[in-house]
Amino acid sequence: MQVPLLDLKPQMDALRDEILQAVTEVIDSTQYILGPKVQELEQAVAEYSKASYATGVSSGTDALIISLMGLGIGPGDFVLTTPYTFFATMGSILRVGAVPVFADIDPETMNIDPEKLAAELDKDRKNGRKIKAIMPVHLFGQCADMQRIMELAAQYDLPVVEDAAQAIGADCPFTVDGQVEWKRAGSIGTAGCFSFFPSKNLGGIGDGGMVTTCDREFAENLVSLRNHGAEPKYYHSVVGGNFRLDPVQAVVLSIKLKHLESWHKARRKNADLYRKYFADAGVEDDAVKLPSAVYDKIEGAEYANFHIYNQFIIRCSKRDELRDYLLSKGIGCEVYYPLCLHQQECLKPYNFTCNSYPVAEQAACETLALPIYPDLEESQLEYVVSAIADFYQR
Ligand SMILES: *Cc1c(COP(=O)(O)O)cnc(C)c1O
Repeated sequence: MQVPLLDLKPQMDALRDEILQAVTEVIDSTQYILGPKVQELEQAVAEYSKASYATGVSSGTDALIISLMGLGIGPGDFVLTTPYTFFATMGSILRVGAVPVFADIDPETMNIDPEKLAAELDKDRKNGRKIKAIMPVHLFGQCADMQRIMELAAQYDLPVVEDAAQAIGADCPFTVDGQVEWKRAGSIGTAGCFSFFPSKNLGGIGDGGMVTTCDREFAENLVSLRNHGAEPKYYHSVVGGNFRLDPVQAVVLSIKLKHLESWHKARRKNADLYRKYFADAGVEDDAVKLPSAVYDKIEGAEYANFHIYNQFIIRCSKRDELRDYLLSKGIGCEVYYPLCLHQQECLKPYNFTCNSYPVAEQAACETLALPIYPDLEESQLEYVVSAIADFYQR
């Protein structure tokens, strides 16, 4: 049996006719840059994400870059983020000329640990306040502890840029006076940054991204910045860039967005099936640890954190051997991520004092992504679990 890590073909086959027709309409319209199709998607994503405004941009990376630009962050500024994420989170900070500062992660969720973040902010206050923004990442499809992060942001008067590239549609709980309410990724900080890279839960047929916000002035700033900062056309008081989303991607994404909830549901069901099959297989707890469900229950509610499982990440012993074994059995899997950001070679010129982030470093040695895409068959999932059980019982 072959089990790919991700198979987009069934999804595309089901929508092929509708997508081809929509793309043909774009081609025939001769409107190839921005326009009504991009606006339609922006409106739909703003609504879906419970934000007021959305600006379509060229990628998730550019969503992060333009958000930092829109906040006026540049040389001399520091941005506080997690050391355990995809490179683009830090790349965007470096690209605007700012410098990343890290706070270690929570061992359960692998998202930034708010108490470590608080400690960094406290240290920064004594150092003359160079940190100008906080950039939490909703890693693998599960929101960071946004309630605590927003409290700290308010306390230190800092904007928050959510890297929600892996988490469109994820919800997290806020408890106010003992009452729980849910907020959605991208609507909580000043900016919510999404990616439509094909492997994300909502993926295009190429690159694309979006910035959501509830701040009108910031949204207007983004619209200008994505088009070279022209205001009006051909007059530039600031330098922006070409960060535009194109209508071909927009129409594809608008069609797919209508199915996103059902795809999230299928991924969550697969996560539940993994829990069931792993429990039945008798794999030792200290060999394989399943993704944390610590936020998955609040009394009387169906869920707490609504995890959209962009990736299903186990933590395991003998990770590299297990990966090779699974690949030899025709099972797709991947290490997200083998290196922490502070360990990347490109940071060497910045002469960081040798900070270490032990929780993140340990995660980088233990994590492995298993197939969880919506069209994964139960028999395929069962095969993945039995191969893992075989590996540890050999
Ligand atoms: C995918 C991703 C990005 C970048 O998105 P692109 O569209 O590939 O530029 C940024 N941050 C995280 C956490 C991501 O997973």
